[in-house]
This record gives sequence, structure tokens and C-alpha cells, in this order.
Amino acid sequence: MINNIAEIEPLLKAATKPKIIITTHHKPDADALGSSLGLYNFFLELGIVSTVISPTDYGNFLKWMPGEKSVLNFEQSPETCVKLTQEADFVFCLDFNSLSRINKFGEVVRASSAKKVLIDHHLEPEGFQDYGLWSTEASSTCELIYLFIEKLNCVHLINANIAECLYAGIMTDTASFKHNNTTATTHRVAAQLLKAGASSTKIYEAIYDNFSPERTRLIGFALNEKMQILREYSTALICLTADELKKFQVSTGDTEGLVNYGLSIKGIKLSVLIIDRLAARKMSFRSKGSFPANEFARTYFNGGGHFSAAGGESSEPIEAVEKKFKSLLKNYSTILCN
Ligand code: 5GP
Ligand code: MN
Repeated sequence: MINNIAEIEPLLKAATKPKIIITTHHKPDADALGSSLGLYNFFLELGIVSTVISPTDYGNFLKWMPGEKSVLNFEQSPETCVKLTQEADFVFCLDFNSLSRINKFGEVVRASSAKKVLIDHHLEPEGFQDYGLWSTEASSTCELIYLFIEKLNCVHLINANIAECLYAGIMTDTASFKHNNTTATTHRVAAQLLKAGASSTKIYEAIYDNFSPERTRLIGFALNEKMQILREYSTALICLTADELKKFQVSTGDTEGLVNYGLSIKGIKLSVLIIDRLAARKMSFRSKGSFPANEFARTYFNGGGHFSAAGGESSEPIEAVEKKFKSLLKNYSTILCN
């Protein structure tokens, strides 16, 4: 646990108009963008206009979040993002802990003389921060943002905009309060956010009930025609080629959640999705029991993540990635067969 974030309170208060950048990991999910915009809206309550910079674009299912229109995309406006980061007093790094996770923007952050503030719940922080609130016990970065606001004695400032953003990240990172990262603190924080004006139904619908027909059909296609069940390794595998992604007009965020279906099959302990993105083959791993998804992703596929939910990538063709993945499974047969 890293917990010296309270030390920035006097610095924040001393600065007349602190220049603050908030950034998060590439292709932000609801926890990444929700924590960023939750903090952005909180700073507004303190009279501070901060800037949220996303290293890349993100899914349409996040575009309802209050403040979202002000988010800068580093890939679209690199010069502005570099200038703002160079001039910043503070850079808040949320929901990631290694600067390589924010692509080229990572080196811009590293080179900035701004104080770096880490708020995150992933394993193995790189250690680039000056101040941090880091705990792998937290359900989500949104939960940690709430705890940060609580440390500042500012819970009374949490309005509906802040509450909606934070609730969204807690809801999605716990898979609707289902995963074992859901603690008593998670429920206490969620309850406070509901009291502050977040609507659980509205947020659920905004995130989960806004699929395009193509995205819904892609799920059917992937499960019916593409899912391989490797019984001897208790593994489900889906590989989607570039042509298939094109056919279903897949855009950013559309394959989110697809990897989870495999795990709902009785006896399956590892579910894997390999998708053929233009830049690289992107892999998602979800496991049950003692299969270390993060270690596997890190060792073989240049990735990482949580013990049971991790990701990685490869520059090789999708067929080669599929073959390599399958050949590696035998090293884990003891874990997967029991
Ligand atoms: P997803 O499968 O949803 O893309 O990612 C699941 C989790 O794995 C993320 O929350 C993140 O912690 C981690 N992850 C995904 N892709 C990568 C990657 O390329 N590198 C690292 N270090 N972690 C990743
Ligand atoms: Mn998260």
C-alpha cells in the first residue's frame, strides 16, 4: 500500500490556480474515465479547472459522463497535450501504474517537472510518483478517488456529476458488485454515491444497454461460430480476425466483456479472447481458481494486469498468436486440470 497522498493537500491549497492534468490508461474503460472525470468534477467544486488527457480514444458507452466533452485525446491533439503537461504543476495518473501503459504520452509525463500523483489499484507500480494512493485491495480506482476526497474532508462536495462518474467505475470493475474485489468499503462508498445523486439504473443502462445491433450480433457470432472449448485445459478461446471485426463494424469498446462469457461455462477455468487490431493482436485473459492470468500475460505476451483479469499483445499474425497460446497451455496443465 502506498499512502502519502494527504501530503499534497497543503500544496494544492497553497497554489493560487494550480495547473492540473489528469490522465489514465490507453483505451480507457469506465473505471479509468470515471475516476478521471470524477476527479475533474471534484476539482471544479474546489474552483479548479483541470484538464483530462486520454492517451487514445474510448468507447461510445462512456460518452454520457459529465465533463466528457472536455477530454483531450493525445493522439488527436499531441501539441496541446504536450504543452499543457510541460506547464502543469500536478499530473494525476489514474488506473495505471507504469508509464508505458499510456504509450508515447508516458514519456511526456515523465519529462514534465510537475508533481506526479498516482491513484491506482493494479499490481506492481513502477514507482514514478511523488505522491500516491495505491492499494490492490480497492475494487477500483473510482473507490480510491472517493477515499481521497474523504481524506481531504470534502465528502460534502460530492455532487451528482462526481457521484455518477465514480459509481460507473465501481460498478464495472466489480462486474456489478459480483467479483471478489467487492468489499464492505466498496458498498459503503457506493451507498454514499447513491445518496449524493447517482442513479444505479441510469448508469447501468448508459453503459450496458446501448449496444449497436452489430455489436450484439458479434457476440452471437463469436460464441456460436468462433468459440473453441479446449476441454483438456478447461479453457475457452475466441479468436477474431480483422475481416470479422470489419464485418461487424467493430469500434473501440465493442469487444469489451466478450471474454467473460467463456468463464460462465461449467468447468471452464480460463477464458481468452484474441482480437486482430490494426496495430497489434490484443489478448484478454480471465481466469477462475489458481491460474495466474497476469503472470501468464507478462511472461509470454508483453502484458500484465490482475491475477484473474489480465491482457497482453503481440505483433505476430493472429494464427501464430493462437498457436503460441495453445502450445503454452501444457505448462499449466496441473493448474488447469484440477
Ligand atoms: P482487458 O482484457 O479488459 O483489456 O484488460 C484486463 C486488465 O488487464 C486491465 O484492467 C489491465 O489491468 C490489464 N491489461 C490489459 N492489457 C494490458 C497490457 O497490454 N499490459 C498490461 N500491463 N496490462 C494490461
Ligand atoms: Mn480499474
